Amino acid sequence: MTPTTHPDSIARRRLDTPDVDVVVVGAGFAGLYLLYRLRSLGFSTKVIESADDVGGTWYWNRYPGARCDIESIDYSYSFDPEIEKEWQWSERYATQPEILRYLGYVADKHDLRRDIQFSTRVESATWDDNASLWRVRTNNGDAITCRFYAMATGCLSLPKTPDVEGVKRFRGASYYTGRWPHAGVDFSGKRVGVIGTGSSAIQSIPIIARQAAELTVFQRTPNFSRPAYNGPIAAEKKAAFATDPAAYRHAAKWSRAGVPVEPTLMQALRVSAAQRLAAYEAAYAAGDLLALGNAFADIGANPEANETVGEFLRGKIRAIVHDPETADALCPKDHFYGTKRPCLDSGYFETFNLPHVRLVDLRKDPIKTITETGIDTASRSFALDAIVFATGFDAMTGAIVAVDIKGRDGLALADKWNDGPKTYLGLMTTDFPNFFMITGPGSPSVLSNMAVSIEQHVDWVGACLAYMRERHLDVIEPTPLAEAAWGQHVNDCADITLFPRASSWYMGANVPGKPRVFLPYIGGVDRYRKACDEVVQRDYLGFAFDGAAGARCNDGVICRLQPDVAMLIDIMAELGLPAIDTLWVADARAFSVAMAAERPPGPEVGAIADGVLPGAAGALPYRLYRPAQPGPHPIVVYFHGGGWVLGSADSDDPFCRDLCVRSNAIVVSVDYRHAPENRFPAAADDGFAAVRWIAANAESLGGEPEQLAVCGWSAGGNIAAVVCQRARDAGGPRIAGQVLVTPATDCDFTRASYVTNGDGYLLTSALIHWFWDHYADPADRENPKASPLRARNLYGLPPALVVTCEFDPLRDEGAAYAAAMAAAGVSVRHLDCRGQIHTSVISVDMILSAAGARAEIGNALRQFFGTSPAAEQSALRVALLSSRAESAV
Ligand SMILES: Cc1cc2nc3c(=O)[nH]c(=O)nc-3n(C[C@H](O)[C@H](O)[C@H](O)COP(=O)(O)OP(=O)(O)OC[C@H]3O[C@@H](n4cnc5c(N)ncnc54)[C@H](O)[C@@H]3O)c2cc1C
Repeated sequence: MTPTTHPDSIARRRLDTPDVDVVVVGAGFAGLYLLYRLRSLGFSTKVIESADDVGGTWYWNRYPGARCDIESIDYSYSFDPEIEKEWQWSERYATQPEILRYLGYVADKHDLRRDIQFSTRVESATWDDNASLWRVRTNNGDAITCRFYAMATGCLSLPKTPDVEGVKRFRGASYYTGRWPHAGVDFSGKRVGVIGTGSSAIQSIPIIARQAAELTVFQRTPNFSRPAYNGPIAAEKKAAFATDPAAYRHAAKWSRAGVPVEPTLMQALRVSAAQRLAAYEAAYAAGDLLALGNAFADIGANPEANETVGEFLRGKIRAIVHDPETADALCPKDHFYGTKRPCLDSGYFETFNLPHVRLVDLRKDPIKTITETGIDTASRSFALDAIVFATGFDAMTGAIVAVDIKGRDGLALADKWNDGPKTYLGLMTTDFPNFFMITGPGSPSVLSNMAVSIEQHVDWVGACLAYMRERHLDVIEPTPLAEAAWGQHVNDCADITLFPRASSWYMGANVPGKPRVFLPYIGGVDRYRKACDEVVQRDYLGFAFDGAAGARCNDGVICRLQPDVAMLIDIMAELGLPAIDTLWVADARAFSVAMAAERPPGPEVGAIADGVLPGAAGALPYRLYRPAQPGPHPIVVYFHGGGWVLGSADSDDPFCRDLCVRSNAIVVSVDYRHAPENRFPAAADDGFAAVRWIAANAESLGGEPEQLAVCGWSAGGNIAAVVCQRARDAGGPRIAGQVLVTPATDCDFTRASYVTNGDGYLLTSALIHWFWDHYADPADRENPKASPLRARNLYGLPPALVVTCEFDPLRDEGAAYAAAMAAAGVSVRHLDCRGQIHTSVISVDMILSAAGARAEIGNALRQFFGTSPAAEQSALRVALLSSRAESAV
């Protein structure tokens, strides 16, 4: 996109000289590196930190057992090769004191403390639009002005206030894991209660149990945890790092979670139970936070696949914990594995076998109140000397909105984010110019090795400021369009996973009143980095700038494809497959058969039977899918895709199964004759002959008379459309409805979607030409039997659902056919699937983001047959013209 002048730009204003170029809030991993980077770029920078030293997370969280759960080699800075050589971690997962020493060492090495003001809390930051700077105020009364304001305040830095009655009443000692006393705590001989069973509790409970006379753990939600098997760093890992640290870091930066791990494409439910178990045992033994979730590709998205890990871990808990009731209470059953942050532990579950340790399941026996002397649950009183609150954090947004941040026109960030945070790339937010967040909401942050994500954000911000300085730009702000689209993309990514189903802190669910939105970006560190880089390469796409050189805006959207579609396209590109249009037909067919064999099989149906029916010029094979419920059922006659050249009942088998289940109808998939052996109009003639025969034999097939619809994908959509016209013209058979999925409807190759989507989205315009060349002579192509859009009139056709996809070369001709039918008075719904490609809708269990479109197709068929339940009927009444296909998994 060519940068244009910002339409809303205001005449240049007075530019005051600020006290410093940048104020950074926070001196943890992020603030320290940001200071280093900005200083090295020549920006005057002041860091403000409420603690009295550096360290952030590792300054505050001094509870017993606190340590990282991403291996220290990975969870460390990469920006300074000298540090990488000088600093040696003592074990796989370093303790809090060691990490704190490390951060102190980094601060010393680069003399960072001289620009950090400690023991000072930033209370407010206000954008002064006239002077184009931020006015920052602290609890000490300092007022500092800066051109840029960056919050490196941490995703997990604002402890949540415990929502338990009577907290202040307790006369014993109270401790908060996130604000642990520096001198440490000795629990010897004490009766201790721990409230919470998240990460901090799971780390601290085994150690507290070693000291305490009695330990009572109050658990609201059991968590998945497994042994860390902490110890010396594995020799191979050490060697891999030492041999080529740059290559090691590069792999981490371009990995899914910021740790160099090769992703698998293997699916949990496509291997035997024994293979699955072996993979889980190996992952369990690895003592690695990410290993189990990475064991199979579908664990984060497929409930059944996920359940296999959940059950595996529950089995481990039952094997460790002796008392069956306690074991059962410790087994997480209310969320999918990984959708709440899993934990690594050192003897957590074993602790519950100790005679002086007990578990109180608050689901069965909730806390009534904290008293002066302990805790009262609904059924008991527990006398305690000390209570440890391991109640977590107001994650991701808490520390940001805790500062009174006001942007343009006095807009408060807390108000803007009332319904959930809105950001562009998790880095900036509209109406808050020159305001950066390090690992802000909408970035991979807490779903990644944060050291990697922090460095990536800091580098991006540093490069952005340098870019602005070079071009005499003073103000940067994301555009509303870019921000809204990023929010959409973040949700698209989350929606194809199981994560939004959990009441987790990722969803804000641990803080009463906090809006339930998915806060981090789950599309992966690698894809996220690619998006951020692309924004820069495309001249800061989605940003508006202002400065001495004038105002400019490069409005636009990054990441327009659905995330799983983008992933599929990348995988296909990596495989380096041949373009079909360069192959001989026989090879192309063999290739498409081989590709089809790799797909997930689709859902189970009641029964499948192959048969033969009379086509226009001889017998045609067909495959019939019968629903599990007893019939008779309506019938859907289905025509597969493949450009009239390729395909079979096998090629579209998963989609036919899906259609059968969703529509509760019999699906008859017809193997019409293919070109070039049988050119136009063989396929169209066979399609019509098949529909006539199936209509005439509906009852013997188990169908209901007069309850027949047609459906087809791509060239099959073309055949379905032609069949409807011919049935109308021939006075029958009666067709209750037609579903045309990304259909070919015309032989005009000049439409815009051919130009914009003709290359890069699997179906290419070259391939479409190849198909047409094999199917129909140029003289025949305008015949409505080849190009149904060319029919003289389209009145009296059956009601239709036309599905088009945004990134399909055939999009515009599908849309044109829908519009033409509607203009002729046909009842038409047009579903344009945002971010999808030609093959998305039929890619069952592969393109999960198209599951919503598949649901719409099932609903439409039920509606044609009058079998959709009332609720579905009303949902279908929603105007669908150009609406987006909701992603639903
Ligand atoms: C117990 C625990 C274990 C963790 N383990 C891992 C792990 O293994 N791997 C991993 O990737 N991540 C882990 N994390 C996440 C961790 O928070 C990040 O890895 C990282 O430390 C965050 O660094 P940061 O600089 O962004 O924020 P923080 O370290 O949280 O630092 C933010 C700083 O900002 C200061 N601050 C906030 N608001 C203000 C204000 N208004 N004025 C002044 N100062 C302010 C705070 O005092 C704090 O010092 C863990 C978190 C916790 C709590």
